[in-house]
Amino acid sequence: MKERTFSIIKPDATQRNLTGKINAFLEEHGFRIIAQKRIHLSRREASQFYAVHKDRPFFGELVEYMVSQPVVVQVLEADDAVTKYREVMGATNPKDATDGTIRKLFGESIERNSVHGSDSKENAAIEIAFFFSGTEIVG
Ligand code: ATP
Ligand code: MG
Repeated sequence: MKERTFSIIKPDATQRNLTGKINAFLEEHGFRIIAQKRIHLSRREASQFYAVHKDRPFFGELVEYMVSQPVVVQVLEADDAVTKYREVMGATNPKDATDGTIRKLFGESIERNSVHGSDSKENAAIEIAFFFSGTEIVG
């Protein structure tokens, strides 16, 4: 069934001018980019977005990294988009990611791992609503 997930092209990737390459990868792998914008996150937004990790030792660095350069936030549509995107993203640490995944191809480190993807349908809906209004999504 057609489903939506939320994606971020992270600062390490926008900085290296990889937005187009990652979008081509997404389209070649069956995702439709049905909403997209390039924004510079505030510390408040980055902290709120990753609030689930607020007690982890890497939280402060993660927030600084996420505000260091612009990001591209996107809504992706595909059959089973949430699961499928987690598969093609690859493991959090690019070193552990399967060949042919985005993080294996483009990721630089466990922190600078090029993309974010929602980890459940519930979180996808929350994350999409955090960044996009209904009128900005035209499937
Ligand atoms: P994301 O939520 O960004 O899609 P993920 O679900 O694969 O990634 P999480 O465990 O949710 O991984 O971690 C969120 C992000 O925090 C990671 O993508 C990475 O940028 C950063 N991160 C995770 N673990 C570490 C770590 N041990 N050291 C530094 N940064 C980390
Ligand atoms: Mg996560």
